[in-house]
Amino acid sequence: MARIIAVTNQKGGVGKTTTCVNLAASLAAMKRRVLLIDLDPQGNATTGCGLIKEELDTSVFDVLIGTHGVKEVMKPVMEDTIESGKYWVLPANGDLTGAEVVLLDLPSKETRLRAGLYEVDNEFDFILLDCPPALNMLTVNALSAAQGVLIPVQCEYYALEGLTALLQTIDRITHSLNPSLAVEGILRTMYDPRPSLTHDVSSQLHKHFGDKVYDTVIPRNIRLAEAPSYGLPVLHYEKQSRGAIAYLALAGEFIRKSGQ
Ligand code: ADP
Ligand code: MG
Repeated sequence: MARIIAVTNQKGGVGKTTTCVNLAASLAAMKRRVLLIDLDPQGNATTGCGLIKEELDTSVFDVLIGTHGVKEVMKPVMEDTIESGKYWVLPANGDLTGAEVVLLDLPSKETRLRAGLYEVDNEFDFILLDCPPALNMLTVNALSAAQGVLIPVQCEYYALEGLTALLQTIDRITHSLNPSLAVEGILRTMYDPRPSLTHDVSSQLHKHFGDKVYDTVIPRNIRLAEAPSYGLPVLHYEKQSRGAIAYLALAGEFIRKSGQ
């Protein structure tokens, strides 16, 4: 059975998409079978994996409304070589902008993604869900389908603001739609070891989340910001970079902690 992880934080720009793309590529390089699902109408994970949004015939939207199955829509990315690994993307484009409204009129609107994923449950080791920067119906679908929530947190002043709302949403979904949902891990992104603020935020995260805080931190690294414009995970853009090394380390820790 696939382990399904929602990468969520309703704050924008904290590194959700960067984490999804690079964790997917790193897990694939470690020979895990990975499906990355783009749930953001902006489609940044889609383009970050080298797919062209304008050329998509179908997208995750078609899976949510039930006209297509996951296998019909998902696309392979990356060559399967010894060093890298192929993984799959269920892409998104602007069609998803209307999903919120369309879903409202459909039965089981909160669990349509979960229903769609049954079909591929045995085909993957990990399914990563890149959530939009909002606690909307798309995020609810992600949290209903997932077993774990990976929360990227940027270690700056307002980092903890908003986490309470996210934890309340997780709690609500655990008590209603998905009892097996739990926080998988807290990932510190764009980490700068110098400012004392970073340490304050880190110690607060440890106080609240204990060993759920990953030991691996993702440094601020320009290669991570450049790679998406080439449609590549950083591992395939500059594999010696600090960003690539950090995401490989995260994949190792992620596999160890998930027992998969
Ligand atoms: P989100 O999906 O949470 O909105 P993104 O992953 O798109 O966040 O990241 C926001 C911006 O910051 C992007 O331009 C991305 O390239 C950049 N970025 C993300 N992580 C890093 C990092 N560790 N170092 C440098 N730039 C980063
Ligand atoms: Mg994003």
